Amino acid sequence: MKTLQELTRPNIWRLKPYSSARDEYKGVTASVFLDANENPYNLPHNRYPDPMQWELKTELSRIKEVTSDQIFLGNGSDEAIDLVFRAFCEPGVDNVVAIDPTYGMYQVCADVNNVEYVKVLLDDKFGFSAEQLLLHANTNTKVIFLCSPNNPTGNDLDRNEIAKVLREFDGLVVLDEAYIDFSDAPSFLKDLDKYPNLIVLQTFSKAWGCAAIRLGMAFASKEIIGIMNKIKYPYNVNQLTQKQAIEILHKYYEIKRWVKCLKEEREELAQRFEKLPCTVEVFPSDANFFLARVTDAVRIYNYLVQAGIIVRNRNSVSLCGNCLRVTVGTRMENDKLIEALEQYK
Ligand SMILES: *Cc1c(COP(=O)(O)O)cnc(C)c1O
Repeated sequence: MKTLQELTRPNIWRLKPYSSARDEYKGVTASVFLDANENPYNLPHNRYPDPMQWELKTELSRIKEVTSDQIFLGNGSDEAIDLVFRAFCEPGVDNVVAIDPTYGMYQVCADVNNVEYVKVLLDDKFGFSAEQLLLHANTNTKVIFLCSPNNPTGNDLDRNEIAKVLREFDGLVVLDEAYIDFSDAPSFLKDLDKYPNLIVLQTFSKAWGCAAIRLGMAFASKEIIGIMNKIKYPYNVNQLTQKQAIEILHKYYEIKRWVKCLKEEREELAQRFEKLPCTVEVFPSDANFFLARVTDAVRIYNYLVQAGIIVRNRNSVSLCGNCLRVTVGTRMENDKLIEALEQYK
C-alpha cells in the first residue's frame, strides 16, 4: 500500500480543521455553557450535538468489535462515500475503479467531484475477478469500490477475490456492506487490522430499519478515520439522530428477529416469484431484495404502479436488461405483489 500521505490530497493532508466551541472544551464537568452562542431556552434542542458522537461510538464499538477511533459516522453512507472522494481523489487527475453494475452513488459522487469513474463489468453470474479489476487500475487510481452483497444484483461477492484486491491494490478499497446483515457471509470488519487500506461501509438504513434518521458508518484504520473526521462538517450528525441510534442499538435482539424473518420471507417470495408466468429468472440473493428478469420490465413496472405497488425498474442498468429489483416487505405486502402479478396479462 502507498503511504496514507501519498494517497491523500495534499491540501487535505495539510488542512487544519475547524475547531468548534465544543471541541475546545474537553474533560472537566461544566454546568454553565456560554461558549457557543446557543440559546439557553428550548431544552434539549438548544445545544449543539457532540461533534464526534462519542456516546454512540462507544456503544457501536462494543457491538462491532472495533475501537471508537476506527469509526466514522455521517449523514448516511452517502456522506462517507463523498468524503472518500474529497479526501483522496484530486479532481481531474485521479480516478477510481468500481464493479458494474453497482450502487449508483459511487458514480454520482465521482461526477460531482470531477473524478474519473472506471467501470469493470461483472460476469454473467454477477461475479468479479480481482485480476480483471486490478488491470483497470493505474498509478492515478486512488480507490476501488466493491459492494457485497451487491446492489442491484443481490449476491455476495467472492470473499477470496475481495481479499486479493485488498492484498494487491496499493490504494484504498471501499467495501460497501450495507446489506451484510442479510448475508450468511461474515463481514470484513474482523479483518480491519489485517488490511490498512480497507474502508468498510455499513448503514442504519437497511437491517436496522432507520433510513429516516440518516446515519451511515465507515470503519477503517484510525489514521484513515482521522482524515475523514478532519474534513467532515463539524456537526454532521444531529442530536435527534444520535439519540435515536442509541435507542435502536438497545433493541439489538429485535433487529435480529427482523433480519431472520426477512431472510425467510425472501426465500418464500423468490420461490413464488419464480413461478409467475411473467418471470424469466430470479437471481439468488444475500440481501433484503432480489433481482428478477421478467418478460417485459417496463410494462410490468408500469402495471404495478397502476396497482399502487412500486418496485425498482433496473432495465437500463448494465447486465440488468428486463430486470426488476424487488425489496422484501411484510408478508402482506409480498402477497399483494404476487397477487397483482398473477393477474398480469
Ligand atoms: C441503501 C444503500 C446504502 C445506504 O445508504 P445510506 O446513505 O446510509 O442510506 C449504501 N450502500 C448501498 C449499496 C445501498 O444499497
